[in-house]
Amino acid sequence: KPMENRITDIGPREYKEFLPPIIEKNFGKWVYHEIVEPGMLMHKAESGDEVYTVRCGGARLMSVTHIREICDIADKFCDGHLRFTTRNNIEFMVDSLEKAQELKKYLNDQKFSGGSHKYPVGGTGAGVTNIVHTQGWVHCHTPATDASGTVKATMDTVFDEFQNMRLPAPVRISMACCLNMCGAVHCSDIAILGIHRKPPMVDHKVLDNICEVPLAVAACPTGAIRPTKVEIDGKSYKTVAVKEERCMFCGNCYTMCPAMPLSDKEGDGVALMVGGKISNRITKPAFSKVVVPFIPNEPPRWPTMTKVIKQILDAYAEDARKYERLGDWANRIGWERFFEKCGLEFTEHLIDDFRDPAYYTWRQTTQFKF
Ligand code: SF4
Ligand code: SF4
Repeated sequence: KPMENRITDIGPREYKEFLPPIIEKNFGKWVYHEIVEPGMLMHKAESGDEVYTVRCGGARLMSVTHIREICDIADKFCDGHLRFTTRNNIEFMVDSLEKAQELKKYLNDQKFSGGSHKYPVGGTGAGVTNIVHTQGWVHCHTPATDASGTVKATMDTVFDEFQNMRLPAPVRISMACCLNMCGAVHCSDIAILGIHRKPPMVDHKVLDNICEVPLAVAACPTGAIRPTKVEIDGKSYKTVAVKEERCMFCGNCYTMCPAMPLSDKEGDGVALMVGGKISNRITKPAFSKVVVPFIPNEPPRWPTMTKVIKQILDAYAEDARKYERLGDWANRIGWERFFEKCGLEFTEHLIDDFRDPAYYTWRQTTQFKF
């Protein structure tokens, strides 16, 4: 449809242009919805119309070929309509239970040559749904770990929980590859967070040529950077000095100044956080807490990290009450028992987040320091 009278061509087109006719007809007039079976939802409208949604897992980073395949499925079953959820699941909508079941079978039958699911149906209700994640080593400049790799390894480990709804309550897993947390790690049931453990390495010659010193200084949230001059081979360079004991390895300076990289093979890895949620159902929304301060990067399958995540999930599944989110369970039994039941070590890194006395009030934040 041509877009006449547009003020600007920046930004996406109006979403209402893309609604399936049945959604457009009943827009804002839904009475209730229910989960018919894992991966399948039914929405009932005031008019009596019913919409059946089949949800399947999708990759966050998709190739054009893959998107074309998804569009072909939408053409075949849903008159060309589909939607993506905030957790990168793909939802196909049809108007009867029979069509939904046919579609579910079709999606579950699509396999890669190795036998694994291409479009696994699931991700609803009291289970693990798709992981929200960030960019990782390929696409961003400050990652301390990979996103696609850690997410794939984790989802493979907890895949049964994507297709069943046998956990006490929903478990939202998120992943962010640095402290900037583009993912929702600060408020997830289980969060994987990439962390650096070494300060930036300043390349003075490069810095003088390509960076604005005031910008680098202003970028640091802890005031660890100051302007300075250094002499190298008899030549003076305008550069910066980093007070290492104040640095919390956030990478903000590197965002402003590419002459201050901080990625490091030994220093980088992941921390695990648990107990956050954004829902206000039963209890208030909560921030996640760090429960494992450091696990080294172990590409391509991150075995230690996935083992610990499975331990936490299994202990929660066994011990929590129905409808109790992971953090609510830990709060009820006490965090000491949470560590015992999950087989996690409690260390001093989990108590204080920042050593500098000027910042002691940050104790309760999700920032932390080794
Ligand atoms: Fe980049 Fe950090 Fe966001 Fe990952 S979390 S995409 S490293 S800014
Ligand atoms: Fe400051 Fe963060 Fe750079 Fe450290 S990594 S110097 S805390 S901006």
